[in-house]
Amino acid sequence: MKDVQHFIGGEFVGSADGKTFESISPIDNQAIATVAEGSAEDAARAVQAARAAFPGWAAMAPSDRKKILHRVAVGIEERLEELAEWETLDMGKTITAARTKDMPRSAHNFRFFADYAEQVGTHAYPKPWDGVLTYTLREPLGVVASISPWNFPMMLLTWKTTPALAFGCTVVAKPAEQSPITASILAEICAEAGMPPGVFNVVNGFGPDAAGEALTTHPEVDAVTFTGESNTGRSIMRNAAGGLKKLSFEMGGKSANIVCEDADMDEAVAGSLRGIFTNQGEVCLAGSRLLVQRSVYEEFLARFVEGAEAYVVGDPRDASTQLGPLVSTEHMEKVLSYIDLAQEEGAKLMTGGHRITEGALAAGNYVAPTIFADADNSMRACQDEIFGPVEMVMPFDTVDEAIAIANESRYGLAGMVWTQNLNTAHKVAREVKTGTMWVNCFFVRDLRAPFGGYKDSGMGREGGEYSYEFFTESKAVVMKLS
Ligand code: NAD
Repeated sequence: MKDVQHFIGGEFVGSADGKTFESISPIDNQAIATVAEGSAEDAARAVQAARAAFPGWAAMAPSDRKKILHRVAVGIEERLEELAEWETLDMGKTITAARTKDMPRSAHNFRFFADYAEQVGTHAYPKPWDGVLTYTLREPLGVVASISPWNFPMMLLTWKTTPALAFGCTVVAKPAEQSPITASILAEICAEAGMPPGVFNVVNGFGPDAAGEALTTHPEVDAVTFTGESNTGRSIMRNAAGGLKKLSFEMGGKSANIVCEDADMDEAVAGSLRGIFTNQGEVCLAGSRLLVQRSVYEEFLARFVEGAEAYVVGDPRDASTQLGPLVSTEHMEKVLSYIDLAQEEGAKLMTGGHRITEGALAAGNYVAPTIFADADNSMRACQDEIFGPVEMVMPFDTVDEAIAIANESRYGLAGMVWTQNLNTAHKVAREVKTGTMWVNCFFVRDLRAPFGGYKDSGMGREGGEYSYEFFTESKAVVMKLS
């Protein structure tokens, strides 16, 4: 059993009231860690530490902050195997993904924003004909609460936290209660990298009426950057309204993956499989509504089902496993209930559709890769975010029809289109209301680009200059020239 504490003011501490909870591994539903359960009092202690550290960190030259943040990146790389193993044990992602994707990307988050913050400039608006020069100054916002989900625990925590740190804010991070372990290892790495006490704090625990909510209402928190469910975003917005806090939200999705008849079928099949089964389908960006042009529908579907059936489902610690367990029994029950619902609604089950109950996997939360064909976009299984390895496939006749179906959703986070026709690619990219559109690829990111969602999928954008905008205040300085 690992002992996971809060990290406040540079020290690992328990909760003020001594409360703890257990972190359960989805591999076998056994407890793997005892975790300090934060209350409003613990959140307040962390905010106080962050507030005290803020003036010093904000005043530090970006080049000096950069040195520390780069050392954190190196620390992540040095402890990559340990981090990957805990991540896999804690939330069930495959060890291969944790090793080759999540942890390298977490280190990259630190390097990218450390470098970016040193290079970025401000604007000037010279008006010599009026004898005035106006320019902008950017100042770190203050104390940021960073609230993150369980599906990419380390990668998303660092994605939200690193720009705040790089631009001079101090942070209180609240990792998801289902997957708290890597955040505490990251805290060790930050301390070893020489980050001053109080600059980065971690408070563990739950959301409503607990540490999470307390951070969103605390008067000394200037901004909340949140990744999670859209309904949680609504609650946070209500709770933060009293303090008029700056908010940045990355939330749920039900993205359309559009396969046109002129697509490279090998690439479209492989990309669509990754689009729904990566990370057990527990991906906000997943292409969980698969729209296939009618002329290639049967052929594509046959190959897609064949590909899903070849997926290796197993213990995520095994390097050959491609699909591990779902994060918790509660979440697995939710996914299974949507599988029942899709059948009741009349979608045709092509493969999967059940929990895996044979052998060692019976102890964990494993659901077979599941494909429903002949779905209708009005079904709840096509409108709600299932957040598991469940694909809803439907045919379309024209590209205009595919775009209309894609847009019939309360979400607008991502999208994919597979086509060889440049005009179709541009048309779909332009007309689908979504934060990111991938053309003939999936999951590729450039951290300079805006990331976020339309409609219920997000509020604001982060990445490069967008993060700079969010984590700093801008001031106009107007100077009379004589
Ligand atoms: P969640 O909303 O249940 O929890 C996310 C975090 O919010 C957790 O740390 C939780 O403790 C905290 N929280 C919950 N209620 C709170 C409250 N009232 N006040 C403050 N904090 C609170 O989400 P989840 O189940 O952990 O993650 C899955 C969801 O996240 C999915 O909807 C998924 O699409 C979304 N997601 C979005 C993105 C994106 O970039 N848009 C990325 C990953 C996940």
